[in-house]
Amino acid sequence: MSSTRFLAMIEENIARIKERIGAACSTRGVTPEEITLVAVTKGRSLAEIREAVGAGIRDIGENRVQEALSKYGALHSLCIRWHMIGHLQANKAKDAVRIFDLIHSVDSLRVAYEIDRQSALIGKRQDILLEVKTSLEKTKFGFSAQEAVHAAQEIAGFTHLKLKGLMTVAPITVTPEEARPYFQELRKLKDSINQAGHLQLGILSMGMSSDFEIAIEEGANMIRVGSAVFAG
Ligand SMILES: *Cc1c(COP(=O)(O)O)cnc(C)c1O
Repeated sequence: MSSTRFLAMIEENIARIKERIGAACSTRGVTPEEITLVAVTKGRSLAEIREAVGAGIRDIGENRVQEALSKYGALHSLCIRWHMIGHLQANKAKDAVRIFDLIHSVDSLRVAYEIDRQSALIGKRQDILLEVKTSLEKTKFGFSAQEAVHAAQEIAGFTHLKLKGLMTVAPITVTPEEARPYFQELRKLKDSINQAGHLQLGILSMGMSSDFEIAIEEGANMIRVGSAVFAG
């Protein structure tokens, strides 16, 4: 495919995604402005990312600190927010706090502690989400629902973290509809954490290319979309 053709394709893809977001929002009775579309750019080139930004993307998601660092070096002058969506090792926290606006994938108190410590060293208060394992897949990272309640209380006392909400990766399902219970569970968990801990978690990061409409219907206000943005 010629490069101008893939660039036009990205723009078209984003337009289609916005239509799908619009439809899901009217089902739920919210406005599309309430939904943050994070374009997942792992494995994508700088040219592809620039094109997405040219087509209106303001939030990009990466799942590896190393890859994000090299892209950030080339793109940091663009007016975009950087999201960390992959498993973060504690020894990468130092680099992560330098570049990410929001870390979605805080999956242990140990890594939360390290992000807090590294943020303190650079005088930053780092926005984070807790990653919650809503399904029982052994391969997944994340807190169980019960652990997340406890972790949220604990992290509320960390001076250089700002806990903004919850994130989940639903299991791969045959139909998008089958992912609905996992999204419902995350929304209920957010409500009960807010009640129990007198917290005001606002962000629900859930839904990907195949199932983001269902996620929006169930309360997502941040969706992470990769292949639907970039693939042909
Ligand atoms: C890759 C990835 C996505 C995007 O997946 P698509 O199916 O390509 O939209 C979303 N969230 C996480 C955590 C990912 O790693």
